[in-house]
Parts: sequence; structure tokens; C-alpha cells
Amino acid sequence: MVDYKTGRVLEDDENIHDGNAAAIADKIFAPDVKDRPKIALQFFVYDMLVQSRPEVAGRSLVNSVYSTARLFKNPPVSVPCNKTFCEAVSEHLKTVLDQMYDLEVPFRRTDDRTVCGYCDFRTICGR
Ligand code: SF4
Repeated sequence: MVDYKTGRVLEDDENIHDGNAAAIADKIFAPDVKDRPKIALQFFVYDMLVQSRPEVAGRSLVNSVYSTARLFKNPPVSVPCNKTFCEAVSEHLKTVLDQMYDLEVPFRRTDDRTVCGYCDFRTICGR
């Protein structure tokens, strides 16, 4: 899976291994985090979509980040699909979905008002 990135690529996006997989998954879902590893989350989605295809059963999957900013300085980085990371993200995702359906868990506005400037839900949110 090759993904071209024109924006910033974080260390947490492209250096995922058993030793830091849980911490990166925590950071993806933590509230109001600066530098959330969004590309790592994209890799998770790619991995889940591709692995569900019978055509690729039994094959290994490697994600590659082609950062356009450093394309001619450094070779593209390969990020092997990490089972520990995928399991940790799946757990977080399940928790988030459970909370969305739980009427006892109230809607919470972000403390970081800078993101509200780009939000499509400002009108119904009241910000
Ligand atoms: S405007 Fe959007 S980002 Fe800001 S608190 Fe509301 S829903 Fe969250």
C-alpha cells in the first residue's frame, strides 16, 4: 500500500512496532492530542480493508509512506502491518463506538478550539 503525503509525517506514523504499538494506538484516541498520528490510523484502515479481501489471504502487507517533502532526500519508508497495533486500535475503536451509542456518556466539546474552525458540526455543536 503506497500513500503519498504532502503534509507532515510523524515518527509515530511510520515507526510502529510491538514496543510502541499500544502507546501509538492510545495517542490516536486520546482527547485533545496535538500531533495525533493520523497516518498510523489510516494504515490501520488500509490493513483492515485489504486483509478482509480473499485475494490477499495469507500474504503479508506493507504500507509505504512517500513523503513528497523528503522524496529526493530519503528513500520511502516501509511500515509493516503490526498485529499488536491493529488489535490495540480495534479495541479503542470498539470503545469509541460503544460510547457513541451509550446515552449515559454525554457529548463533550473539545478543549482545543483551534480545530473547531475547520469543523462541519459547529452549528449543531453550538460553537
Ligand atoms: S465545533 Fe466541532 S470540533 Fe469543536 S467542539 Fe464542536 S464538534 Fe467538536
